Amino acid sequence: MELIDRAAGFDERIAVADRSGTFSYAQLLTGSARAAARLLAGSADLTGERVAFMVEPSFDYVRIQWGIWRAGGVAVPLCLTHPAPELEYVLDTVRPSIAITSDRYADLLGPLARSREIEMLAVEDVDAEPVILPKVDPRRPAMILFTSGTTGRPKGVVITNANIEAQIASLVEAWEWSAEDRILLTLPLHHIHGIVNVIACALWSGARCDMLPGFDAAEVVDRLSNGGLTLYMAVPTIYHRLIGDLDTASAEDRARFREGVSALRLMVSGSAALPVPVLERWRELSGHTLLERYGMTEIGMGLSNPYRGDRVPGSVGMPLPQVEVRLVGDDGESAAEGVPGEIQVRGPTVFVEYWERPEETAEAFTDDGWFRTGDTAVVEDGRYRILGRTSVDILKTGGEKVSALEIEELLLSHPAVSEVAVVGVDDPEWGQRVVAMVVVPTPMESDELRDWLKTRLAPHKVPKEIHFADSLPRNPMGKTIKPEVVEMVSSPR
Ligand code: AMP
Repeated sequence: MELIDRAAGFDERIAVADRSGTFSYAQLLTGSARAAARLLAGSADLTGERVAFMVEPSFDYVRIQWGIWRAGGVAVPLCLTHPAPELEYVLDTVRPSIAITSDRYADLLGPLARSREIEMLAVEDVDAEPVILPKVDPRRPAMILFTSGTTGRPKGVVITNANIEAQIASLVEAWEWSAEDRILLTLPLHHIHGIVNVIACALWSGARCDMLPGFDAAEVVDRLSNGGLTLYMAVPTIYHRLIGDLDTASAEDRARFREGVSALRLMVSGSAALPVPVLERWRELSGHTLLERYGMTEIGMGLSNPYRGDRVPGSVGMPLPQVEVRLVGDDGESAAEGVPGEIQVRGPTVFVEYWERPEETAEAFTDDGWFRTGDTAVVEDGRYRILGRTSVDILKTGGEKVSALEIEELLLSHPAVSEVAVVGVDDPEWGQRVVAMVVVPTPMESDELRDWLKTRLAPHKVPKEIHFADSLPRNPMGKTIKPEVVEMVSSPR
């Protein structure tokens, strides 16, 4: 993989800094070669075996990710906030041969892996004397990331080595990455945003990535205030929280923040729509006009405001290098300027398939190879503006994609629930807030239902509110009318 081959040229430069120290590119190369040797355990090539890993953002995360790639395996990063049933779903779907965990998640992941006869390794044990590593064809799968896509239950998005390289090359060119860059990572590492846009682009460039184990607004404000960084990338919910923290800070701390952040050359927002008031308030507080971009697990990044030149609030700019984008109207024809259409994308950054879902893969592409994103946009003055998603059942909350159908299915399996509708309600912090409306024949507390959900669903999928109703609004076909549900749960009770 070129990403890894290039690292030798950066040698003693710092690649990663985490809570335990700083690590050079040379250490990353050695560490990942030793990790690969352990994973290979005598075989010549993992030949597409999946390796799941549950490791905090850290040098070890990258060492293991690169180790899997170098051994010819497919990396499956697990979400650190998933409760057991979500992890089981991923394990049962991709059937990894090995699962790796840091201490913190050993009690959770260990029993799940052992009962499936998956070999369990602790992070520190992924280490062995170096061996000759296989030559991995770039067209081979490198990673599987889970997303709800444009419909239904989470699916594994299969991303090849070549996809990752094209995604990196596109962003490095567009956002002018260099070895002098230093980026702060505060994003989760089971999602393309942190994995490719932050870490992979940094390491491709010989830059330095400073990693925090998670997001804490006060800590991030402090790190940004201290200077030394050149780049920061986050989702709108994070900027909203940082604004909240700064709004209550002293004038002195705000001035220190502004001074520290002035050294950055670029601040990026993406993964969900950036509300214009957030962009404006951030500009007042930091002096930076956030660069908003649009992307998706299946395509990497697709559209971006310019690095140089005007960034238009509310717009996601123009196609990135290597990415072909078109808008297709309801009539199946290319939409003219000013006419809304579905965003379709083609090019080397686009994934190959949903893991073991040939039908959904086929449906996701047009006959001539364009990926249908399920997002609607319009071109105005040559720039794209996102209007929304074609499916009301796909929500975005805090930058994470959520399938309403998945939550509905689970709620319906609760013995007390007879009907349910899950919707996204516009929210200044979350973008969309997950809200459920349920019909329960026998009265019960919403906290009881939420507690039940929390043991089964990732935290961001658990509805922030559960409303009880006698019945749901339905059309003559019996289908719930979701816009009406949104209105009912949004109006003051
Ligand atoms: P994911 O695969 O989790 O990255 O989610 C991708 C989805 O996030 C897209 O299909 C869009 O619906 C949404 N999205 C990403 N970036 C933006 C943006 N800048 N504005 C609006 N929606 C966005």
